[in-house]
Formats: sequence, structure tokens, C-alpha cells
Amino acid sequence: MIRAAGLVRRYPGFELAVDKIELPPGRFVTVIGPSGAGKSTLLRLLAGLEPPDDGGVEVRGRAVFLDQDRTVLERSVLANAAFGLQLRGVHRKEAARRVKPWLERVGLAGKLNQPAQSLSGGERARLALVRALATEPDVLLLDEPAQALDPANVALVEDILREVHSRGRTLVLVTHNLYQARRLGEETWFLLGGRLVEAGASEQLFTDPQREQTRAYVAGEMVY
Ligand code: ADP
Repeated sequence: MIRAAGLVRRYPGFELAVDKIELPPGRFVTVIGPSGAGKSTLLRLLAGLEPPDDGGVEVRGRAVFLDQDRTVLERSVLANAAFGLQLRGVHRKEAARRVKPWLERVGLAGKLNQPAQSLSGGERARLALVRALATEPDVLLLDEPAQALDPANVALVEDILREVHSRGRTLVLVTHNLYQARRLGEETWFLLGGRLVEAGASEQLFTDPQREQTRAYVAGEMVY
């Protein structure tokens, strides 16, 4: 469950202000909006990575945040994937045993011992997803996990996210891909200029938006 009230975060020239968020457990939310709307800032606040200037966030369960950086450690692919589990006290061998099926699933089984830094951008993205999923968090906060992936890998990532959701996890996914936001989301939030302009059932938000700004954005008419 995620709850937030009176949430404010200010940077020079920008203010994110969201009155209220109430997300029951197991919900799949997609977050859309133009660059600079505040999507990543909102995820960081929900992840507790930075404190709000006002208001508060409550997240029940363990949350994992997957940022856009896809930073990898100077270690093998396998060691990178297993790192989160080892941090949580899982023995190295057991952690490796648990992450191998995930690495196989995302097509990295042939690269287990390769330095993670030698991976391509798309491979790093898949490794980052495995690292986030391996510890089986209750809540996944994902910032463009399928960005710059080829279509087959986008489909693969979407399948994995659906599966994780079907196991009762809560997902909040930021994406610029409106088709993806509609395909995956049960609920969609549209952010613009630091404000939550519209939030509602995904299918309705895309087919019958209640606000003119939402309509223009999902129709691809909004000019920035
Ligand atoms: P989005 O994810 O929707 O593209 P962001 O949340 O990344 O938007 O950014 C929203 C605004 O906040 C942008 O104008 C960005 O420059 C600004 N911003 C984000 N993080 C910082 C920061 N750490 N310091 C200063 N400004 C920031």
C-alpha cells in the first residue's frame, strides 16, 4: 500500500505538488507525462530516496526503486544480479542459484561471468530489472525499465512485469510509451508541470479523459 498526502518537493524553478495518493496493495499504476513533469521526482519521493519539503509518504512493505541510470558494479553479470540478495544476508551460492532463472529469462544466461560493464545498454537494462526483482520486493517503483529496448525485449519486460503483478506485487511504472502505459496499467496517472492532472482507470483515461490537457497529451497534440 502506498499513501501520500500534501506532498510537495521544490527545486529551483520547479515544484511538484500532489494532494493525495492512495494505492491499495497489488495495484499496477502507470505514470505518464512529458519530460520535466516530475515523474522521476515523484518516484524518488515514493521510494524515500529524498524527503518531501512538505507532506508525507507511507509505503507498507519493502519497496525497490529501479532508476534510469542502470549503473552496474565492476563485477560479473551474475555477481551484479545476486548483489541485492547478498546484501540481505543470503549466502553467495544461494543468491546465485536464485537469480540464474531470472538471468535465463532475460537472455543473459550466456553472459553470467562476463563483466557487467561490457554489456550493451539493453542488456544492462535487463540486468537492472533482474537485480530489482531478485529480492522479491512488495512494491516496485520503475523508471522507464524498457526504455531503448528493441521490440522483442520490450515484450519480454512487459511479460515479466505482468507476471510479477499477477503474484500480488504493487507496481508503479513511469513510461513515455503510451501504448505500454495503457497495456499494462490498471490505473494511470497523468503528470504535467508538477501536478497530477488526472488519475483514473487506465482504459478510461486513454479513451475518455476527463481533462482537456490529458486528452491533448494522449492524442499526441501537446506541444512543449
Ligand atoms: P520527469 O521525470 O517527468 O522527466 P523530473 O522529475 O526528472 O521529471 O524533473 C522535474 C523537474 O525537476 C525538472 O525541471 C528537473 O530539472 C527538476 N529536477 C529534478 N531533480 C532535480 C534536482 N535534484 N535538483 C534540481 N532540479 C531537479
